[in-house]
Formats: sequence, structure tokens, C-alpha cells
Amino acid sequence: MGSYRISREIPLQASWDVIVVGGGPAGCTAAAAAAREGARTLLIEATGSLGGMGTSGLVPAWCPFSDMQTIIYRGLALKVFEALKAQMPHVSKEAVDWVPIEPEKLKVIYDELVQEAGVTVLFMTQLGAVDTDEAGKVTALITASKSGLQALQAKVYIDCTGDADVAAWAGAEYLKGETATGELMPATHCFTLGNVDEYAYHHGPMLHNNNKTSPIYDILASGRYPLIPDSHICNNIVAPRTVGFNAGHLWDVDNTEVLSISEALMQGRKLAAAYRDALAEFLPAAFGNSYVANTGALMGVRETRRIVGDYVLSVDDYVSRRSFEDEICRNSYYIDIHGTEKEEKQAGGKPEAIKRYGPGESHGIPYRCLTPRSLKNVLVAGRSISCVREVQGSVRVMPVCLAMGEAAGIAAAMAAVLPEHNVHAVDISELRRRLREEGAYLPDADAK
Ligand SMILES: Cc1cc2nc3c(=O)[nH]c(=O)nc-3n(C[C@H](O)[C@H](O)[C@H](O)COP(=O)(O)OP(=O)(O)OC[C@H]3O[C@@H](n4cnc5c(N)ncnc54)[C@H](O)[C@@H]3O)c2cc1C
Repeated sequence: MGSYRISREIPLQASWDVIVVGGGPAGCTAAAAAAREGARTLLIEATGSLGGMGTSGLVPAWCPFSDMQTIIYRGLALKVFEALKAQMPHVSKEAVDWVPIEPEKLKVIYDELVQEAGVTVLFMTQLGAVDTDEAGKVTALITASKSGLQALQAKVYIDCTGDADVAAWAGAEYLKGETATGELMPATHCFTLGNVDEYAYHHGPMLHNNNKTSPIYDILASGRYPLIPDSHICNNIVAPRTVGFNAGHLWDVDNTEVLSISEALMQGRKLAAAYRDALAEFLPAAFGNSYVANTGALMGVRETRRIVGDYVLSVDDYVSRRSFEDEICRNSYYIDIHGTEKEEKQAGGKPEAIKRYGPGESHGIPYRCLTPRSLKNVLVAGRSISCVREVQGSVRVMPVCLAMGEAAGIAAAMAAVLPEHNVHAVDISELRRRLREEGAYLPDADAK
């Protein structure tokens, strides 16, 4: 590819304390928390709605909010979770694990979260470039939208793009995929089927791939639906007569390459139609009259870049359920790595190498995993924080992203009033005090 130098001035908006890029779970709580602390906060989002993978991506359920004993993702995370549950009559109010998501309702809950906190939101606004100085400070973001190219300036930036776009384009170090091969976890294009017969769905065989007699194995064995790649098929009722699916895998999809993601979206839509037809044939009572109601506006991307922060969370930290003096939340989710094409095509998928936690067990996520070590005024929250690949397979899920986003937002507001807006100099005990005050689950080290 050649290069082209742009040589004209573009409008500048320089009035922000904090700019959050990416309005997924991490970005929503980050922006709301920063604004709640009094920071003038702007949130920019490439799509037309908030919620990222949980709304535009159609991921149909929340990963567990509990460690099987107590709810451990609290504060704004719990507020969002409870607000959605309250609007879903078919969900028990006591349910805390694998609770379904009705995406349109969740979009409005996120809108209200950030609006009530006083955040300004720019939708359909894509980050395109990042300007920095020699000291590792981001000096401006360049965005593209219906207003054309714009430069946006803040004291502190929070990267919640999921792909660490801000940090990577500012020149920060990052890792991507499997260390030796660079291989990425496969993507999944989530979709919903409408006009499902709920009675037949509930009383028919369990479709999930964990059920060894799931009809998905008959579908694969029939050879009639060659587009369906493997047995992966999580699904649940997300709205009346509507089932959300997180099913199948697309390999070699790289969300940091626009052509790769464009091709994958087209393939994903074909795949959703194939699932509909297969389910209509094999489970006619439930799916015979169903149709593809929606496919994700965002491709379901599990991993791309991970920043190299002041601390890299390791497998040993995960296995030893380690606590940290600067931890900003706890995590109990299992290491959920989706494997290679070969591994996933075997029934049962990739074998789990690291044992799941027992009831009441969790590990801490240090603040230092959110601070790219070579950048002064940038925080990262969400699925691209600083950790080894295995741990990313756990901390990437939505309850964790919501919790770390809130911490990043408070920290950004604190850094915005520090000399040089240095995120590495934030007073950790004050950050943790504010998090606790807002309801975060941060038990004392000796109580764990
Ligand atoms: C197929 C799949 C199934 C999953 N299943 C579950 C599940 O069952 N339960 C669960 O809890 N978690 C699940 N997860 C994990 C979870 O949904 C994501 O990892 C989580 O949403 C990540 O949150 P985030 O805020 O870091 O980023 P995202 O949710 O990815 O949001 C990032 C946002 O940033 C925006 N953005 C990105 N780049 C730019 C840019 N350059 N400029 C402007 N905006 C930008 C995007 O449009 C998006 O809205 C699943 C993930 C996948 C892919």
C-alpha cells in the first residue's frame, strides 16, 4: 500500500477533561464514572448505540455475576445488570448467572447511564488516528463522522475500543494472540431467530453443545449444512418468541484489519441463515416457523491486541487466586479460550487446561493492568488490558469489563487534575476508597 500526506487544517474541540473511545460495557461505565467525578467527559462510539458486544454484537447472555457464593461485580456493573433484569419479565429477579440479554432494552439502559452522569456522546464517530508528543502523551484524537474529520483533545483518554486502538496508534507496546503463532481465538457472529415456539423450545432437547445428545450433533453428522463449522451453540430466550444465538466459529478473523472484518460479516450472515434452516429441519416444532430476526452489527471478536501495562497479569496470578494492593476489582470467570479450527471441530471443543474456580474464589485485577507503560495520559479498560493470553480468555467477559471500566473512569478523573495528567501517579488508596464508596467488591486482602 502507498502513503498519502494530508495537508489541511481540521476543526479542533479542546474542552474535555476525559475522552472515552468505545462505548461497550467498559466504555459506558468508564464514561459514567468519570463524569460522576465531575470530569467533562466525551464518549465516542463507532456505531449508533452503546453496549458493544452485548447490544450491537447480540451476545445473548451475561457471564456470571457471582463467584457462586456472592455477587462480585458490583457498583455500576450491578446497576446495569439489575436495571435490565427488572425489564425482562421471564428472568427471575434472583438470577445472577448466565442471565439473558434483550439488546434493545440494554441499549437504552446504557444511554440513560451515561446521560444521567452528564456524559456527551458522539455516535457514528470512528477514531482514525492518534497524535502524541515525545513524552508519551496523547495530544489529540482524530475522528471521522458525518461532521467530517475532527480533532478532539482531553487531559486523559480511556481506550475502551476492545482492540486497544488508542494505545496502539499512540505507539504503545502490545501483544496480539498466541505468542508463538499470533493465532487469534475464532470469532462468532451472533444472531437472533424470531417467531420461535417457546413451548417447544423449552420442552424439546437442550440445544447447547454441552448436552452430548444435542441436535447440533445430528445436524453436523447429516452433512447437509456444510457452512455450520462445529458444535458451539449457546442460546437462550432473549425476548418473547425470540432466541439469541452465540453459535459457530469463524477462523482467521482479525478485527484490526478492515477487509478481514468485512468478509467475516458477510460470511456470518450466511451462517445465521444456515443455522435457521438446519434448526427448522431438525427441531421443526420449535424453529419450523422461525426467521433470522437480526445479525450482529458488530462481529463477535474475542481477542485482538492486549496492551503491555505496568503489570502483566499472569497464569500464576490466576491459578493462585492472587490479591494485589492496587486491585480495582475481582474476577472469578473461568479461562474460556475458544480453540483452533481443529480443536473446535472435535466434539467438546478445546480441552480446558486450567481448572475452574470453586465457590467463593476469585483473583484481583491490579490498576497497573490498565496503564500502558509507555503512555502518560492513557488508560485502557475492557478486553484489551495487560495480561497473558490465557488470562485474557477470562477477564474479557462483560461483568469484568463493566467493573474495570468504572475504575478507569474514576482514575481518569483523578489523573485529569494531576500535573501532566499522569495516570501512573494516581493515588491508589483514594481510587479504591471511591470504588468501595460506590459499592465495589474489594474485600480486604486478609478476608480473601
Ligand atoms: C462471540 C462472543 C460471545 C461472548 N459471550 C459472552 C457472554 O455470553 N457473556 C459475557 O458476559 N461476555 C461474553 N463475551 C465477551 C464480551 O461480550 C466482550 O469481550 C466484552 O463486551 C468486551 O467489552 P469491551 O467494552 O472491552 O468491548 P466491546 O464490547 O467490544 O465494545 C467496544 C466498543 O468500542 C467501539 N469501537 C471500537 N473501535 C472503535 C474506534 N476505533 N472508534 C470508535 N469506536 C470504536 C465498538 O463499536 C464497540 O461498541 C462474548 C464475546 C464474543 C465475541
